[in-house]
Amino acid sequence: MDRLRFVFESSEAELMAKSTDHSSVLQLLPTLVKSAQDLARPPISNYHVGAVGLSSDGRIFLGVNLEFPGLPLHHSVHAEQFLITNLAVHRSPRLLYLAVSSAPCGHCRQFLQELRHASDLQILITSEKQTHKEPIFKPLSSILPNPFGPCDLLDEETPLLLENHNNGLSIIPKTMDSNCGNLCNGVCESLLKNESQLKVSALEAANSSHAPYSGCPSGVSLMDCDGKIYKGCYMESAAYNPSLGPVQAALVAYVAGGGGGYQRIVAAVLVEKEGTKVRQEDTARLLLKMISPKCEFRVFHCYSADNECKKFSF
Ligand SMILES: [Zn+2]
Repeated sequence: MDRLRFVFESSEAELMAKSTDHSSVLQLLPTLVKSAQDLARPPISNYHVGAVGLSSDGRIFLGVNLEFPGLPLHHSVHAEQFLITNLAVHRSPRLLYLAVSSAPCGHCRQFLQELRHASDLQILITSEKQTHKEPIFKPLSSILPNPFGPCDLLDEETPLLLENHNNGLSIIPKTMDSNCGNLCNGVCESLLKNESQLKVSALEAANSSHAPYSGCPSGVSLMDCDGKIYKGCYMESAAYNPSLGPVQAALVAYVAGGGGGYQRIVAAVLVEKEGTKVRQEDTARLLLKMISPKCEFRVFHCYSADNECKKFSF
């Protein structure tokens, strides 16, 4: 197994299972957890968590925990959140099975409630003693009875996590040519082009953001020093606190996409609505400043659908 990869196509998964004498991809999942743990980035706890998921399209996804020194602990990304975000980044429709190195914390059990049919999600905890030869998965409902979740707050038509979202945010084309502010001082065409690409990516992320509780979707795009762009969308939890911020989601895309040290991130764009009750700007700025102090950070405030988008220089 390539130790640096976070996604395996279904054909690769089948091949891996065969080449390692496992009767099925499902049997393979727990054997990949240790490799996933090795990819974790937990410089505060040094507690490596690995999660390996099998999606309905046959692909295997990995998740790991991320921690950020110098910031409060709630900025951390848990392995299960990383895994779900990894599926979202790769537009995988549904997580069926999950093998994880240690019991999911309450925060993650709650976050997983945002998935359709969450109670049926099958989980195996590899640190628990296995009494059967075949790996035994058990439903999420067995470790989170009497859950609180989307069904308590939303109607059935509202899309849940990993389902298609279109939040109707738009950017008026003329703003693409507006004063580009501090980023390029109006003279550097390549940076202006990059900013436009970053803005488009962040808008795409914001439009797929899962924010049914606050109505405040947002998205972040990051660019590394090679010009590669990564994007992530804000994802809310019915219980609020387990929600995953857009910078964290973009960092998942960065890590899963082979990004190296965070200081290689040189530019970032946040797109969010203006004047809403939930805002990401200040938190995003704080996190980016801590992990990559020289990163250029821009914010674009948008209105839904037919309202004009405004750009704010700072
Ligand atoms: Zn957790």
